[in-house]
Amino acid sequence: MPEENQQNKTDVIVVGAGPAGVSAAVTVARGGKKVVLVERGNFAGSKNMYGGVIYSHAAAEIFSNYKEASIERFVSNHSYVLLSETDSTTISYKSPSHNENAFVITRANWDRWCVEQAVKEGVYYAPNTLVRELIIKDGKVIGIRTDIEEYYADIVIIADGVNSLLARQIGLRKDLRPKDVFLGVKEVIKLSPEVIEQRFGLGNGGGCAMELVGGPLKNLFAMGIIYTNKDSVAVGLGVALEDLKNRKIKPYELLEAMKKHSFVADIIEGGELAEYSAHLIPEGGYNRLPQLYTDGAIVCGDAAMLVNNVHFEGTNFAMISGKFAGETALEAFEKSDFTKNQLCLYRKKLENSFILKDLRTYKDVVKTITNRANSIGYYTQKVNEFFEIFTTADGIEKKGKFKKFAKHFFMKRSLAELFKDGFAGIKVMFDILK
Ligand SMILES: Cc1cc2nc3c(=O)[nH]c(=O)nc-3n(C[C@H](O)[C@H](O)[C@H](O)COP(=O)(O)OP(=O)(O)OC[C@H]3O[C@@H](n4cnc5c(N)ncnc54)[C@H](O)[C@@H]3O)c2cc1C
Repeated sequence: MPEENQQNKTDVIVVGAGPAGVSAAVTVARGGKKVVLVERGNFAGSKNMYGGVIYSHAAAEIFSNYKEASIERFVSNHSYVLLSETDSTTISYKSPSHNENAFVITRANWDRWCVEQAVKEGVYYAPNTLVRELIIKDGKVIGIRTDIEEYYADIVIIADGVNSLLARQIGLRKDLRPKDVFLGVKEVIKLSPEVIEQRFGLGNGGGCAMELVGGPLKNLFAMGIIYTNKDSVAVGLGVALEDLKNRKIKPYELLEAMKKHSFVADIIEGGELAEYSAHLIPEGGYNRLPQLYTDGAIVCGDAAMLVNNVHFEGTNFAMISGKFAGETALEAFEKSDFTKNQLCLYRKKLENSFILKDLRTYKDVVKTITNRANSIGYYTQKVNEFFEIFTTADGIEKKGKFKKFAKHFFMKRSLAELFKDGFAGIKVMFDILK
């Protein structure tokens, strides 16, 4: 049975210096408690990758001076691109009042900057420290074990990301199955700022976030992403791991196919590959929430599978759940109660916030989309065929073309399939609005 060494004892230990962990740690420090933030990487962000967008509301809630970080570009244009085999149709949203909703920044810069701020506010930061396991005494989490030593705390906040060996060790989460996660793959391609601004139609250092469906991703539960940095473009995709496994598709081949599509090829033409990375993304979802706390421990961020994949929101869920975990720890100190009876407050905070409200809203949506994923490519193809007719002036009368289009629309897909797709669309709307 482990004996607590008082020299190695602090109030709170946070494992993982990603967006969830740093937010938890700085919240605890602001409340006047001693907190150690443990990170396995040699600097925060060194082990982390993502698409590229941080949401300003969450950044500002944790660090009001977030604009001092090395932001690449604020997202001024948001585009959705429907791909067919060769063509593309783009829907773009732009508004002067929307300019500061989100920004693109590299994780190496963002995570490191956040940790620097947290250290200034009293967080003790321990990089290069891999937590091997949690220390348990009488069924309660009382500390962490690293390769070198044991450290003790009244509360351990688990923010070790999607794989979360620690949440699994204490039975809060089950082992990951392919259907629980998406695989994200991404390349960073160097281009000059002038070329980026010209190709994306950006002015004044603005940025673009794009989501792509269909084309090479057709029939898969998958979405492409393109984000603009200052002098590079991130091109990637997220795809259900189960789809990759069942259909024996290699993720980098899918990304290559996406890069060869004329829409993407034109954007990255002449660019130089700077970086390739891959990472799992929790599929998330209200129905898959793990147990979020136990005696002496709270789980947040990806470790708790808190992601809204429909909107590509993960970092804001991580930061705000980390903040709630920190607040819950502070309240536990006020009551001197570190049992789950007290730590259940964490779940209530999540329930009362956009985090579990949004996950509940989308709780059946992901399943409906997954079941009809093989229809997405059909409709993106048809949208492009429609716009081809609509925009072509070739001396041939339009009515005949529209009749042919309508006939093909119904002939190429059985009435039963069309009905199921329509029903799925209505169900998605109903599920969101109910
Ligand atoms: C391809 C891709 C694109 C994405 N795009 C976006 C996007 O554009 N916007 C968005 O909001 N979200 C996006 N996400 C999701 C987002 O990246 C995550 O939701 C977010 O990073 C979760 O933060 P976290 O702190 O919970 O976990 P992480 O960021 O994974 O941090 C966990 C930290 O714990 C450390 N760690 C792990 N195990 C240990 C251990 N045993 N001991 C010590 N340290 C440990 C790791 O090194 C890491 O620093 C994307 C994800 C992927 C994969």
